[in-house]
Amino acid sequence: MKNFIDLHLHLDGSLPYTTVKKLMEVHNFSNLTDSQLKEKLSVSERCADLQEYLTKFDFPLLFLQTKKDLETATFDLLQKLRSQGLVYTEIRFAPQLHTQKDLTQEDAIKACILGLKKFYNWQNNHEDNFYPLHANLILCLMRLPDREKENYLTVKLAAKYAKEHVVGIDLAGPEGPIPNKKFKPFFDDAKEMHIPFTIHAGEAAGPESMQEALDLGTKRIGHGIRCLESEQLVQELINQHITLECCATSNLNTKVFKKIDSYPIKTLLSRKIKATLNCDNMTVSNTNLPKEFKLLETKTNLTNLDEHQLLLNSINAAFASNQEKSRLLHIFNQI
Ligand SMILES: [Zn+2]
Repeated sequence: MKNFIDLHLHLDGSLPYTTVKKLMEVHNFSNLTDSQLKEKLSVSERCADLQEYLTKFDFPLLFLQTKKDLETATFDLLQKLRSQGLVYTEIRFAPQLHTQKDLTQEDAIKACILGLKKFYNWQNNHEDNFYPLHANLILCLMRLPDREKENYLTVKLAAKYAKEHVVGIDLAGPEGPIPNKKFKPFFDDAKEMHIPFTIHAGEAAGPESMQEALDLGTKRIGHGIRCLESEQLVQELINQHITLECCATSNLNTKVFKKIDSYPIKTLLSRKIKATLNCDNMTVSNTNLPKEFKLLETKTNLTNLDEHQLLLNSINAAFASNQEKSRLLHIFNQI
C-alpha cells in the first residue's frame, strides 16, 4: 500500500456514498436509486464548466446542517481516506454554508473538530498495518456577493480554533465574476492574525486571477494549473516558492483540459514549480488519491521520482506543525 497526502479536499464534495445514504435516512429524504443519487452527487463527462461542477454541492449541503451531520461526515470521510492509504490531509469546508437551519458558523466548526477527534479515538483503538492518518481543517471564505459579514466571522473563528486543528483559510466559489483582489481586507486580517491561507485561482480564470492571489500574499494556490499561460507568472511562482494544489480529474471535469494526457503535471515539475497532487472532490469527480496517481502514471508517464517530488512538495507546504512534517518525512523516506 502506498502512502498519500491530500492538501486540497472539500468535505461536502467528498462524502462517501454510504454516508450520504445514512444522512438521507436520518433526514427522511425519499429514497433514490443508486443512479439517481450518482446524478445528484457526481458530474458526468458532459459537465460543461466550473459553474455546472459547483451545482453538485447543492444536494449534499441539504443534509449537512446539524452538528451530528457534520460530525458524522468528518468521521466517515477520515475513515475512508485512511483505508485509501492517506497519512495526512487538510479537509476544507465553508462554515457559512452549514447555517441554513439552526447552526452558527462556530457550531459547524466545533462539530467537524468533534468528528476529527472521534476519528482519532477510533484510530487509536484500531490495530492494523496502516500508518495513522493525521488531519487538519481549512475554513473556506466564499467568493460570493454580500458575504462580508460571514467571511469576516470565518477569519475570526479560524484564529479562535487555531489550536484545535483549524490550520488555515481558503477562498472558494465561482472564479471570475468577483476578482480576488476584492477580498484583500480578509487576507490582510489573516496575515495580522498569523493565519496561513490558500486561494482557489487559475482554474476557471487565467493568470490574472493567480497574480491577484499572489498579490494578496498567498503561498499556496488551489489548482493554479493555468499558470503555464504566462511565463512571467511561472517565474514568479518559482521565485516565491509558491505551491500549487493540482487536482487533475477535477480540472478535466471543469474543462480546463480536454484530455488527461495533456495534463501538464510533468511540465510543472520539470520547471521546478512546487506542484502537489490532490482530489478536490472525491464524490463530485468520482475519484480518490490512489486513482489520481495511477491515472497520471498511465496517461502522463508520471514516475516514482516525480511522485516522490509531489509528496515532498506536499509535506513542505502543509499547514502542519514541524513535528508532523518530520513524521511525514520519516514515512516517505521509508518508500
Ligand atoms: Zn477546490
